[in-house]
Amino acid sequence: MAEKFDVIVIGAGPSGNTAAYLMAKAGMKVLQIERGESPGTKNVQGAIMYVDALEQVIPNCRKQAPVERAVIEQRMWLMDERSHIGTHFREAVDPDEEPTRYTVIRANLDKWFSKKVQEAGALLICETTVLDLIKEGDRVIGVRTDRANGDVLADVVVLADGVNSMVATAAGLRSPVVAKDVALAVKEMHFLPKATIEERFNISGNNGVVIEMLGKITKGMVGTGFLYTNKDSISLGIGCMVADFREARGVTPYQLLEELKAHPSVKPLIAGSEVKEYSAHLIPEGGYNAIPAVHGNGWVICGDSGGFVNAVHREGSNLAMTTGRLAAETIIQLREENKQYTAHHLKRYRKALEESFVMKDLKKYRDVPEILHGNRQFLTTYPELMSRAAHTLFKVDGIDKLTKEKQIKRDFVDKRSRFGLFGDAIKLMRALR
Ligand code: FAD
Repeated sequence: MAEKFDVIVIGAGPSGNTAAYLMAKAGMKVLQIERGESPGTKNVQGAIMYVDALEQVIPNCRKQAPVERAVIEQRMWLMDERSHIGTHFREAVDPDEEPTRYTVIRANLDKWFSKKVQEAGALLICETTVLDLIKEGDRVIGVRTDRANGDVLADVVVLADGVNSMVATAAGLRSPVVAKDVALAVKEMHFLPKATIEERFNISGNNGVVIEMLGKITKGMVGTGFLYTNKDSISLGIGCMVADFREARGVTPYQLLEELKAHPSVKPLIAGSEVKEYSAHLIPEGGYNAIPAVHGNGWVICGDSGGFVNAVHREGSNLAMTTGRLAAETIIQLREENKQYTAHHLKRYRKALEESFVMKDLKKYRDVPEILHGNRQFLTTYPELMSRAAHTLFKVDGIDKLTKEKQIKRDFVDKRSRFGLFGDAIKLMRALR
């Protein structure tokens, strides 16, 4: 006879850890199953952690969690082959307000979080893969693992198994993830002495800088690059939609990363570094329109497996933790009310999601994936035009400024036409409204 738990959580990333922690704290008998050797070994992230979502689960977590640097400066770079034009936002640390963004190393963070989950009373088993869900009619009653006699039963199952969402797909709860809804990102860790990083980025103490990059670095494919400062390393990565890689036959993620490393704006920042880690991972970037059913009889889905990533703002871990929290709170509430975990009752989870920033933000940017796909000029022509405009304007060569402004206007109209420029402005406003 298979063992039975109150709840089974599949996965020990941010969403699974959050859900398991809260339900164990509430006195539920929780089994968490992770296929990695230990939590964090399978996980890849940039990574910026948005600590507010964690603070709501583990108060005072800033003092305990293994964070790297508090982000005090955000740069946004629009790049062509030789230059970047962009914005910097730098803010001195306010002694009365805690930072909300930290760079982290996921392997360390996941291990720390998992220890908390186990201290709260959840049973974690690693090196075990959930292959499928066990159902009675359309009700999920447990999981089938790859262990001998590996069936385990539960009143409710939380699917937090990440972007591929293999378990939900195998069980027919959602359709397989498609190439147009996922990005493939690659990342390297460049190690440098702490003092070198602080000098290069004009920072000190545990303050950090992050740079988000877009433009010709992705060769017209929809995607972005990133550079984040850790204590004694720099995380550097780039990713594009899988459907775009397929179309651009022959362009590999590794090639994009090599070119990014050689870009004149990036190269000096990583000069002399030692690369110790290389990783690749998918990111669900289909947005609101790609979110599957999030609950049913005896199950809920959260984090990347539900497609909860805000690609416009590069937020994923906070949506994972928030969806994990809302799933756990729904389950705890139903248990307190002695209610069954039916689809009817679990729809409270969907309602909680709709009321949270998660769905509000995803809804706000729901048209962005489609607009970017149909309008590659935003990633190719405009970065080039902006760069050329800055070059023309800042070059001191005896040509008067009015002539320069006319030249810049002409460049824009020649490339896009007046009608095209007007249309692009409308599309941009529609995407970001
Ligand atoms: P995961 O973290 O993927 O965890 C899922 C877990 O389930 C894994 O541990 C996996 O081993 C386990 N698992 C999977 N299948 C099974 C199975 N069948 N049985 C048992 N266990 C299973 N987000 C940010 O907020 N900030 C960033 O800077 C950022 N940068 C990113 C950069 C890159 C390159 C990538 C790839 C992602 C980035 N993200 C970022 C997104 C973020 O990493 C994810 O949104 C977040 O990790 C989702 O958490 P999760 O718990 O849902 O899934």
